[in-house]
Order: sequence, then C-alpha cells, then structure tokens
Amino acid sequence: MDVIDLPVVTTSGYPGAIPRKAVEDLRQKLGGRLLCAGEDGYESARRVWNGMVDKRPALIAGCANVQDAVACINFARDYEVLLSVRGGGHNYAGKAVCDGGLVADLSGMKRILVDPLRRTARAQAGLRLGEFDRETQRFALATTLGVNTDTGIAGLTLGGGYGWLCGKHGLACDNLIAAEVVTATGEILHCSAEENGDLFWGLGGAGANFGIVTEFDYCLHPVGPVLGGMILYPLTEEILRLFDEFSASAPDELTTVGVVVTGPQGKPAFATFVCYCGDVAEGERTLRPLRRFANSLADSITVRSYLDMQSLLDPAWPPGRHYYNKAHNVRRLNKDSIDTMLQYAAKLPTPYTNIALQQLHGVAARIRPDQTAFPHRYDHFDLLVHPATDDPADAPNMIRWARECWEALHPFVEPAVYVNALEDGVEEGERRVREAYGANYDRLVLLKNKYDPDNLFRTNSNIKPTI
Ligand SMILES: Cc1cc2nc3c(=O)[nH]c(=O)nc-3n(C[C@H](O)[C@H](O)[C@H](O)COP(=O)(O)OP(=O)(O)OC[C@H]3O[C@@H](n4cnc5c(N)ncnc54)[C@H](O)[C@@H]3O)c2cc1C
Repeated sequence: MDVIDLPVVTTSGYPGAIPRKAVEDLRQKLGGRLLCAGEDGYESARRVWNGMVDKRPALIAGCANVQDAVACINFARDYEVLLSVRGGGHNYAGKAVCDGGLVADLSGMKRILVDPLRRTARAQAGLRLGEFDRETQRFALATTLGVNTDTGIAGLTLGGGYGWLCGKHGLACDNLIAAEVVTATGEILHCSAEENGDLFWGLGGAGANFGIVTEFDYCLHPVGPVLGGMILYPLTEEILRLFDEFSASAPDELTTVGVVVTGPQGKPAFATFVCYCGDVAEGERTLRPLRRFANSLADSITVRSYLDMQSLLDPAWPPGRHYYNKAHNVRRLNKDSIDTMLQYAAKLPTPYTNIALQQLHGVAARIRPDQTAFPHRYDHFDLLVHPATDDPADAPNMIRWARECWEALHPFVEPAVYVNALEDGVEEGERRVREAYGANYDRLVLLKNKYDPDNLFRTNSNIKPTI
C-alpha cells in the first residue's frame, strides 16, 4: 500500500492531504467501489454528460446503498474534503464532480418499485429519466420528468423538473411525496409533508444544498399514448410570434418546446416540439393553427407512446459533446426579443448550436411560489442559449457568441433563472444564484443554517449559511 498521504482539496478550497489508512478504511466500508486516480475505471467515472467538463476528483466513491452515502458524508466532514454528489451527471457545469475532492457517485443506485394501485414509485437516486419512465409505463403510468432520457431524476427533481407533463401535472418536484435524505451529520432522515416538512419543502427546488437524497417517492398519473412530435419551419419572425401566441393559449394538456436550429441547407430553422396528453381529437383541433402554418419543412406529429415522446429530443444532445449554456426566464416573446433571436440565429457558431424555449405553464404555474422551494410560478419559457461542438477548438468562439446573445436578450427577460439551467454560479455570481431561488432565498438560508451550517454541500448553486 502507498504510504504517502493522498493530496486533496479541502472544503475551504485549500490543498490538504488525507492519510492512506483513512482512504483504505473508506474503501472497506463501502458496498460500492472507491476509485483513486490511476485505478481502473477512474477515467470513465470522472466523465460527465458535458464533454467540456474535465475535473479530476481525488476519490470517486461508487455508492451502492444509503450506508455508502453516510460513509461519504462522514468522511468528507471528518477530513474536511470537498464533496460533490452525482446523480445522472447531467448538470451543464459538471457540479456532480469536483477537482481534488470526493465524489459520492450514486449513479449505480437504480432500484425502482412501482405500486400501480397507489400510483406511486419509489426510485433510487441513480436512475435516469428513460430508466424510470420504462418501469412506470409498464403500468401506463408516468410523472413529470424532463425531455432527455439520459438526464438523472435526482438533480432534475431537486431543482424543479420541467417536462412534457408540467401543464397537466406540475413539475417533477410537485409530484415528489417523500424522500430519504442523508444530512451533513450523517443522519438518515425520511421526509415528506408530515415528517421533517421543512427539509421536504427545501428539496423541491433547492435540494442539492441540504444532503444526499438516496430515494425519491413520486405520485404517478395515468399517461397513455400522447399526441406529439415536431414541426420544422424556416426561421422567421412570424413563426416565432405564432409559437409564442400558440404556447400562451395552450391548455394544460399541451406543453411546447421551441428550438432555433440549423436546418436543411444550413439555414436557420425553428423546430416546434409539442406533447398533448389528453383526448386525441381535442388535441388534433388544438394543434391545427401550428400544423396549418405555411411552409413547414417537416411534420412528425402523430399519436405515439409516451416513451417515444420522451426520447424524441435525445439525438440533439448526445453525451460527451462539448456544451455551454446560458439561461433566462422569459414570460413572452415580443418584437424586440424576436429580432434579437433572429440576429443571433443568423450567426450560430456551430451546426449543433441552438436556442431553446421550454415552456412552464398550467398546473406548474398555478402552484403558490412559496409552496415549494422552486419559486418561478408564472407562465414562462426557460430560454436556453445553448452552443455545442465536437471540436474543442470551437469553444472560445461559441462561448463568446452565447454570452453576447444572452446579454442582448437581457432587456426582455425576468430577473430570474431556473437553477438547473444556471451554467455556473461562479461565472454569473451570487446575485444570479439568488435569482434562481427568488423570493424563497431567505427561507432557504434559514434551512441551510439548520441542516448544513458548515456548507458541506457546496458544489451546487450554493445557498451560503449565515451562522
Ligand atoms: C440535455 C439536457 C436536457 C435537459 N432537459 C431538462 C428538462 O427537460 N427539464 C429540466 O427541468 N431540466 C432539464 N435539464 C437540466 C437538468 O435538470 C439538470 O442538468 C439536472 O441537474 C440533472 O440532474 P442529474 O442528476 O443528471 O445531475 P448531476 O449533474 O448528477 O447533479 C446536478 C446537481 O444536483 C446535485 N445532486 C445530484 N444528485 C443528488 C442527490 N441524489 N442528492 C443531492 N444532490 C444531488 C449535484 O450535487 C449537483 O449539484 C436538462 C439538462 C440537459 C443537459
């Protein structure tokens, strides 16, 4: 055994070292595998969805059960090692991993139990959306999750969770009914509205700040085949205006996502994705204005399985590509914001780059802003300025384009951002993190003071304790 202490980064960001004996003790305690740099499997375990993220943790602890999460927390706290928590690893900025610290990697915890009679699912934190949906759809049930099957249920739900069913059934966090959490003291807490209700409230939008959530209980809804798909149009002012008006008048059953993309012959195009989860004939009527709009280049709208709908956008975001992201909440598109989008669409820096508008409305918008930690309860789009490339040499140019486009859109947006779309709190500063939690920020600080006063959970859009 190597007798030299293991160099690490401490919770305060300084270099430190851990006795090898302590590392070996942790290895013995874990049901899963502990990986140090140079060990088999380390290189792939440190990689996340965004290929631009290149962090090198000192230790990656594969968690197999809740006791492993307890061991990671106790180790990080006792040795003051920087800790990050990995669910699906989909965070744009790679907050699931950390340079020089310990990663509690929950991605192997994939047990799921569906109770079709009570319409609930108990799901472990390593599940991805596609894996979760596959199990619940065996019973023609589902709950709101995101629009890319590779995303982790954990980070998505703990930040809010926009998705195709949000108009009818609220966000993912609105469908959370209980959770198992390991707190900074290493204690395992069950929480729900009735038990540890304050912590449960915080999990619904700011959950990465308070502990490691190992298990989620969701309520499920009957969801059969849906009417959905994509219509592609040439990008024009008229189609953006139509998309905005159409989305604003959408019934709860319908949710939209619009994406500025590079279309056929390299020209800017607008892909309108829709999902109608209700009566098909009514859905056909509702979608008519979109489908009748002139000049569509393609129309794939049809009755399709919910699983098919969930994977429709997968080809747009393969893992490993280099991505960057800047986001705004925007209530409606107006002439000036449309002009700005057209201007930046005319100079997309790479063919994979897009500007996306993901809708939140209906039930998700009618919940009181203080009912969950997620505060943005009004009709809006999560506007994502989203360049991507397979060639790392493109990175400086695409980042510059995204920052300029995002700045140019500033006059037309809310002082608000979806926490799961926030590229990097470090880059955008603390004001932006506050805007992510909105009016709930002060209450969240009190919760942080209670459950994590030493800020062990800090590799997130961080709520700083004040004691
Ligand atoms: C291609 C793509 C599509 C997306 N689509 C949607 C969408 O449709 N709707 C939507 O709402 N969002 C969407 N997102 C954003 C997504 O919600 C976030 O990236 C989310 O963080 C992903 O969760 P994860 O478990 O994969 O994240 P990770 O990167 O593993 O973690 C993200 C954050 O959550 C924390 N965390 C993870 N697991 C736990 C846990 N078990 N306990 C405590 N903290 C934990 C991490 O520490 C980190 O701070 C999308 C992202 C991408 C890249």
